[in-house]
Amino acid sequence: MKERAGIGVFGGSGFYTLLSNAREIKVETPYGAPSDLVAVGEIAGRQVAFLPRHGKSHHLPPHMINYRANLWAMKELGVERIIGPCAAGSLQARVQPGHFVVCDQLVDRTHGRKDTFYDGPITTHVSFAYPYCPQMRGLAVDVIRQAGIPCHDRGTVVTIQGPRFSTVAESRWYASLGWEVINMTQYPEAYLARELEMCYVNISLITDYDVGLEGQPGIEPVTHESVLQVFAANNERIKQVIHAMIERMPAERTCRCGSALEGARLS
Ligand SMILES: [Zn+2]
Repeated sequence: MKERAGIGVFGGSGFYTLLSNAREIKVETPYGAPSDLVAVGEIAGRQVAFLPRHGKSHHLPPHMINYRANLWAMKELGVERIIGPCAAGSLQARVQPGHFVVCDQLVDRTHGRKDTFYDGPITTHVSFAYPYCPQMRGLAVDVIRQAGIPCHDRGTVVTIQGPRFSTVAESRWYASLGWEVINMTQYPEAYLARELEMCYVNISLITDYDVGLEGQPGIEPVTHESVLQVFAANNERIKQVIHAMIERMPAERTCRCGSALEGARLS
């Protein structure tokens, strides 16, 4: 493949405007088609690949996304580091709509998703104790704070299957465990990046309080409309953050994401 990119971004279709000299390319993978064409262009002098995870026209709900094809397409293009912002709900009062959370932990509550490249014959167990790249997380927190955006430098995201939102009982359960963020796409996206030894960082853009917060009248349960309103406001800010992250991304990786498969294979 002629086009190469070192950095990948998954996100909403607003990101197209960040890329200069962009070309859209069709990438074939052994796992089928990615969510859409991949746009490869330049940001701050670096080659960046962008893929809207729900497709350009947002036709793929979270449980129908071909995560394996999306991650494989990035790898195919030479991507070593992925920035994966997403809209998310808050499970805690202190994490407010409009805040950004740079998650450090993840809980998988999805089911039936194709979530590994290692179906055999070589048995491979990859460590996912620390799901997110520490080097990229540090950079994201610095950049978000410098932009004056309220930022939580850690948080646990629970990924639910969707497309439905949670019940009150489910949301109460997640909140009682101390988890901060709820979303439908972080798993297996973040994990599949690890299987391909790519760095991955999530920035959760808080759009709503999941089912509302109990005992706090006035805080309403999530609706699709309220999510869209806050997401639009977040869109400009996240573009600014991604641009600054790419500008400041160190040339060398100092983390261990690039050797995630060492010792993972049983043979
Ligand atoms: Zn890393």
